[in-house]
This record gives sequence, C-alpha cells and structure tokens, in this order.
Amino acid sequence: MFENLSERLERSFKLLKGQGKITEINVAETLKDVRRALLDADVNYKVAKQFTDTVKAKALGQNVINAIKPSELMVKIVHDELTSLMGGDTAPLNLSGNPTVILMSGLQGSGKTTMSGKLARKLKSEKSKRPLLVAGDVYRPAAIEQLKVLGEQIEVPVYTEEGNKNPVQIAENAISYAKANHYDLVIVDTAGRLAVDEAMMNEIAAIKKAIKPQETLFVVDSMTGQDAVNTAKEFNDRLDFDGVVLTKLDGDTRGGAALSIRTVVTKPIKFVGTGEKLDALDYFHPARMADRILG
Ligand code: GDP
Repeated sequence: MFENLSERLERSFKLLKGQGKITEINVAETLKDVRRALLDADVNYKVAKQFTDTVKAKALGQNVINAIKPSELMVKIVHDELTSLMGGDTAPLNLSGNPTVILMSGLQGSGKTTMSGKLARKLKSEKSKRPLLVAGDVYRPAAIEQLKVLGEQIEVPVYTEEGNKNPVQIAENAISYAKANHYDLVIVDTAGRLAVDEAMMNEIAAIKKAIKPQETLFVVDSMTGQDAVNTAKEFNDRLDFDGVVLTKLDGDTRGGAALSIRTVVTKPIKFVGTGEKLDALDYFHPARMADRILG
C-alpha cells in the first residue's frame, strides 16, 4: 500500500543522514521533497502545504539530542504529524439509541451496500448486536437483491417494501419494525448516483431528518483520490455526516484521500474497507496507517 509515497519519503529522509543537526537549509530541502511526494500521492495541495509548514516549525524547534540522528528525528516528527493529520485516535462509533440507527450515504459504486453488510456482520459478532439491514435504494432492483444476498450470507434479515417508492417512509417503517421485533441495530442502505446530484442529496437529507440516525456514515472509494475529497465535502455540506468509511484501500497505492479527507471535512475516518469479502473491514487506526506510509 502507498508504495510510491513510502519510497519517496524514505529517499528524502536519507538525504538528512550524516548531517549533524537539523538546520533551516537541510530541513527546507527535505520538506520540499516531502511536499512533492504528498502532492504526487494526490494529497490536497492545501493539506500538503499546511503539513510541511507544521513539520518545519517542529523540526526547527528541536535540539537534536546526541542519540537521535536528524533523519530519525524527522521520521518521528513526520510520523506524529501524519497521525494527527488522519485524526490522531481511532474514532468510536456511537452505538447509543435503541435501536442504534446507522445511515449509509455515498455515490453508486463506492461500496456502500457491501459496507452495510460488513458493518452488520462486525457489530453482530463483536458487540452482540441484533442487526436489521434496510434496502433504501428504491430505484435499482439489483441493489435490493444484492443486499438480500449479503443478508443471507451473514444471517441478518433485510427489510424491504416491494412497490413502495418512498425511501423516507421505508426507513421510518423499518425502524418501527425493528422496535417491534427487538432489533437493536438498523443499518439503512440508500440510493447513490454516479455523481452528486440534487435529487439524491434531497432524498438522503430527508431520510436523515426523518429517522435521526446516531451515525450518518459517508462511504467513499479511496482510489478516487482528490475526487473522493471533493465528494466528501459536498456530502458533508448537505448532510453534516458523522464519519467517513474509506473503501477499496486494498487497491489504493497513493493514499491521497486517506491523508486529506480529515483535514478538508473535519470529520474522522471511522472504518476502512480492505477487500471484497465480508470480513475485509477494519477500524481506522491513524498511527498504524502512518506506520504503513512510512514503511
Ligand atoms: P454501492 O453501489 O455503493 O452499493 O457499491 P457496492 O457495495 O455494490 O460495491 C461496488 C463494488 O466494489 C463491488 O464489486 C464490491 O465488491 C467492490 N468493493 C466494495 N468494497 C470493497 C473494498 O474494500 N475493496 C475492494 N477491492 N472492492 C470493494
């Protein structure tokens, strides 16, 4: 993962090897490389600039202790800053409410339906939840079918209303059904489009207003880099979501979305999808991700 970025960073830190201490000049050279590496990894340019400015201020403020080489010190500072750029700590999921309601949003193809199944499976096994999945995409019968197949695989029922074309009503009815039948977790999958459009935003905003979820998650394909960040901004402006789910991290070799999204939308990445299988889901750990980026 992020092969190019880790290689580039490693190379720029090597330039500092053999230097006795960090000076304005050698830190400026290294940081120029770091910034270029971040931009090539499709990191938002404002984020890259802010990042290198912070690292520079921290590096110059340091007295190099004898035991630590400047390159090691820089790696540590960059590691800490990468971690904080990605949110610092793992962001918890709000599981209050009875039932807990999770609303899934995002573009078509982002991995929303798969993620609904993965989350149901994870929370069922880890938190002993009794989940109900809700098929809220009333436009694509294939999407409803896909959710039913997932539901069967993980032994979680899927709430559907054939013939009802009103997703707000379906979501409300599903929650009443969950209450009556003692489901304590409701995950509502919604319709996405190939690009952001007004009708989709209105619909999902109306669902959110009606069902008041504990968590509104925005699902996005990490391989789309800067587009992922822009889409996140548009969804957040309309939905004020609670967290991001980055899917297809297994195919992302650059890492631009993972590194930029938190700063641009000021919402945490809560989960990452790392494959097509239903167990390919992890909580997002900023420090571990920084480790992987730095190789
Ligand atoms: P939706 O339209 O947003 O509901 O997207 P889907 O859940 O149907 O996913 C679209 C495609 O992406 C499917 O082929 C999934 O198997 C695939 N997919 C979803 N998540 C991941 C992931 O984390 N890694 C990989 N490699 N593929 C994924």
